Amino acid sequence: MQLKSFAIICTASILCNHLLAQKDPKTTEVWTPEVKVVTPGKTNTEAPSDAIVLFNGTSGAGWKHKNGDEAKWTVADNAFTVKPGTGDIQSKQKFGDCQLHIEWRVTPNVTGEGQNRGNSGVYLMGRYEVQVLDNYNNINKTYVNGQAGSIYKQSPPLVNVCKAPGEWQTYDIIFTAPRFSENGSLITPARITVLQNGVLIQNNTSIWGNSVYIGSPTYEKHEAKEPLILQDHGNTTSFRNIWIREL
Ligand code: MG
Repeated sequence: MQLKSFAIICTASILCNHLLAQKDPKTTEVWTPEVKVVTPGKTNTEAPSDAIVLFNGTSGAGWKHKNGDEAKWTVADNAFTVKPGTGDIQSKQKFGDCQLHIEWRVTPNVTGEGQNRGNSGVYLMGRYEVQVLDNYNNINKTYVNGQAGSIYKQSPPLVNVCKAPGEWQTYDIIFTAPRFSENGSLITPARITVLQNGVLIQNNTSIWGNSVYIGSPTYEKHEAKEPLILQDHGNTTSFRNIWIREL
């Protein structure tokens, strides 16, 4: 009888801990080991002839707010800059397997720390986030699977090749969309390769599911093509020279 009560208490305690873990963002943060710092070289970033240009420096016409309204981000100085509070923007065109080039810059007078320092993000298919953040020289401390170049809350970048705030940086992304069966089950997960400033930081990394802040990522069936989303995380981070090639 005593053993039975003990078993019930243990089960309840495990369940309780599990439920608490589901509500605590810290349970999915990885802080060590720190990611090695590498200094990038010069890169060639011009769109090739078969690319679809999503932002050429002068018009945000290829983008809209998630609710369908016009994108309210600022177009100036050849850049597309987050207007904090106006929301994420998404490409009008939808994409599946692709090669994406995108340049980003954290404002030179960036403030804040951790996840609030130049945070934005590139969401492939509107779901799978390649993090944008100021992590120059590992000065800004945060969980490594949430630093720039991470697949957010999943895989840290292989190295930290971030440039200083105010400098333009590149992501060259090769993305393979996940495949789903008719009944919605996952056949193959999404895979992603990312070069930051010309240096490999994600090498055919398997994606575990939707990027989520709390809890474990899971897959939910979606269309074969979905919009690209850029994140408004409340910081005035800029983008430019965005082009994509469908594969
Ligand atoms: Mg982000």
